[in-house]
Amino acid sequence: MSANPVQPGAQAFDTRAIQQLDSAHYLHPFTDFKDLNSKGARVIVRGQGIYLWDSEGEKILDGMSGLWCVNVGYGRTSISEAVYRQMETLPFYNSFFNTTNVPATRLAAKLVEISPPQFNHVFYTGSGSEGNDTNLRMVRRYWDLMGFKERHTIISRHNAYHGSTVAGASLGGMDGMHAQGGLPIPGIVHIGQPNYFESGRGMTEAEFGIEAAGWLEAKILELGPEKVAAFIGEPVQGAGGVIIPPATYWPEIQRICDKYGILLIADEVICGFGRLGAWFGSELLGIKPDLITFAKGVSSGYIPLGGVLVGDRIADVLIGQGGDFNHGFTYSGHPVACAAALENIRIIEDEQLVKQVANVTGPYLRRKFASLRDHPLVGYADSYGFVAGLNLVRKKAEVVHDCELFTPELAVGMICRGHMFNNGMIMRAVGDRMIIAPPLVMTKAEIDEMVNKIRYCLDKTLADLQERGLA
Ligand SMILES: *Cc1c(COP(=O)(O)O)cnc(C)c1O
Repeated sequence: MSANPVQPGAQAFDTRAIQQLDSAHYLHPFTDFKDLNSKGARVIVRGQGIYLWDSEGEKILDGMSGLWCVNVGYGRTSISEAVYRQMETLPFYNSFFNTTNVPATRLAAKLVEISPPQFNHVFYTGSGSEGNDTNLRMVRRYWDLMGFKERHTIISRHNAYHGSTVAGASLGGMDGMHAQGGLPIPGIVHIGQPNYFESGRGMTEAEFGIEAAGWLEAKILELGPEKVAAFIGEPVQGAGGVIIPPATYWPEIQRICDKYGILLIADEVICGFGRLGAWFGSELLGIKPDLITFAKGVSSGYIPLGGVLVGDRIADVLIGQGGDFNHGFTYSGHPVACAAALENIRIIEDEQLVKQVANVTGPYLRRKFASLRDHPLVGYADSYGFVAGLNLVRKKAEVVHDCELFTPELAVGMICRGHMFNNGMIMRAVGDRMIIAPPLVMTKAEIDEMVNKIRYCLDKTLADLQERGLA
């Protein structure tokens, strides 16, 4: 193990001083600034494996892999060393002026090797949001080059998360984001998400999958197929609450896209790099996308990196027809970020984390997580690979759609998240759905520890709600 600035239990930071600087100067993402300033932020100072430590020496089990990204866990010295070596050799150079660099080239080849066969090219960005901006530009450029200048509309889904740039937030389907800044921009429309718990009443999961995919065809016909450029979706929706679609959903989406010649974009920023038990979720869910957005797990978050895998259908046209693609970023193909990603992928391969999640720890997590269904607060629980979610309900029912829900104003999910956070467990709340996406290195023993912690905190939540007369 490498030397760390703070050993567990030690207090090397003046927490109050950091919190004061934080309140005074740091505007956090997706945060109610006023509310945070009234409480003060928790100061995270160190990570090792699946654990974090705060400035007070409290140990926390990170059930969210940071923000869905630290797939290989914290404290990987070999990544720090790869980054250091690259910084010493060439910290930066751009790829604009007919130049390239060694890590960007090697990583592109590696990504092509581990991705589905239709992918032979990579476009780099600094983040997932920029990857989706790239998608928007690229699919429109593709259709222009094909001579279909009307084909510019992109169909996405309510509650999707595709990032927070103007295009990313527009492609996403978050009402709260659309309400600020006049979004979505024109040329982007949304259909419903395949959320069985919320919308599948009276149907089997299989029936609901077909029904929900049918919303795409209805939207295409409403717009006119000659106007539609692409459909974008996360194989499993992440930030929207780990919405795992019925198995019938994606194959039907693929069929519809093929029928109308529409491009399919899989946003695999979360699902990629082993998260679902394959290098890319598309492989498991029965789709053959034309573009794959990646970020997060590509570098396990050690250095920011994102991009787009460009399928042959599009690459052949962009390359074959020639002419500048007037798009790119200063940090496209950043050598240090690419060096971090190469070492991260080497670790995933070396430790066989993809297979591990597919065959060993994923199925184990599935079984353990499903055992939480007997908890009085849990109305529904499901998982896929290393993502999982459960719905908190006021009253359980045999048929999930008959569960009695809490009113949203009670923010029961946030209450539950508070109990988790205060008891050394990071589990995120999306409404009243509690979700996890643990590091892929998590062992069976650590899964036991995590599920026990979750159960303990669910008990705490229930007691709290009962005390307040809410349950
Ligand atoms: C996180 C995320 C993004 C945005 O990535 P950033 O690096 O935050 O810009 C896009 N799509 C999905 C599915 C994500 O989970």
